[in-house]
Amino acid sequence: MSSTDLLIVILENMGKNIIENKDYLTELDRVIGDADHGINMSKGFSAVNDKLGEMKGKDWGYILKNTAMTLISTVGGASGPLYGTAFLRAATVVDGKMDIDHEDVVNMFEQAIEGIKARGKSDRGDKTMLDALIPAFDALKAAYQNGLESKKAFQMAEDAALEGLEYTKTIIAKKGRASYLGERSIGHQDPGATSTYIAIRSIKETLEE
Ligand code: ADP
Ligand code: MG
Ligand code: MG
Repeated sequence: MSSTDLLIVILENMGKNIIENKDYLTELDRVIGDADHGINMSKGFSAVNDKLGEMKGKDWGYILKNTAMTLISTVGGASGPLYGTAFLRAATVVDGKMDIDHEDVVNMFEQAIEGIKARGKSDRGDKTMLDALIPAFDALKAAYQNGLESKKAFQMAEDAALEGLEYTKTIIAKKGRASYLGERSIGHQDPGATSTYIAIRSIKETLEE
């Protein structure tokens, strides 16, 4: 399988898992938000899915940019522009590339995080998607530095994302709708951190196949 074919399968699997977890994500958002996160994300990823057929043979940057634009134009709510920005920033790292290496993977995640931080004016500890994504990135980077292969590196990223997700239950939301609840947001898991965890898990699952 070429590496761009692998990217297409990863995105397909991400979409499948997000859509399977539509109700779960929406229920999480019902508690500390407006009960639409699963609906928003499923809409976005089914639109992405519809376009993946046309993506075959295109480069990494093209596929990721197209995914970003589709998410931005179809996902309602705060998460659309944030995920869109993440994919768009990642795309710039691999513009024109048919193959990528570990350094590209690390740079893609780093740029995605920087994009979300800039767009969301948010950081780790605000009870958002970044609380899953940043620990996952740190684990991924460390794993590659220790000479591990992608399969193992993404396993470690998934574990770290899950830990970050659990951590969101213990903190006050400082960004997004959940922040309106203040202290009452404690005890509840962040929906966006959950969809990010699912996305990372989807990458790991695809690499295992
Ligand atoms: P909305 O809140 O507009 O209904 P969603 O429900 O789709 O949008 O997404 C909510 C999720 O978006 C939150 O759980 C959180 O993870 C993420 N989020 C919201 N605001 C920010 C922000 N400023 N920075 C990072 N992530 C954010
Ligand atoms: Mg919502
Ligand atoms: Mg909403």
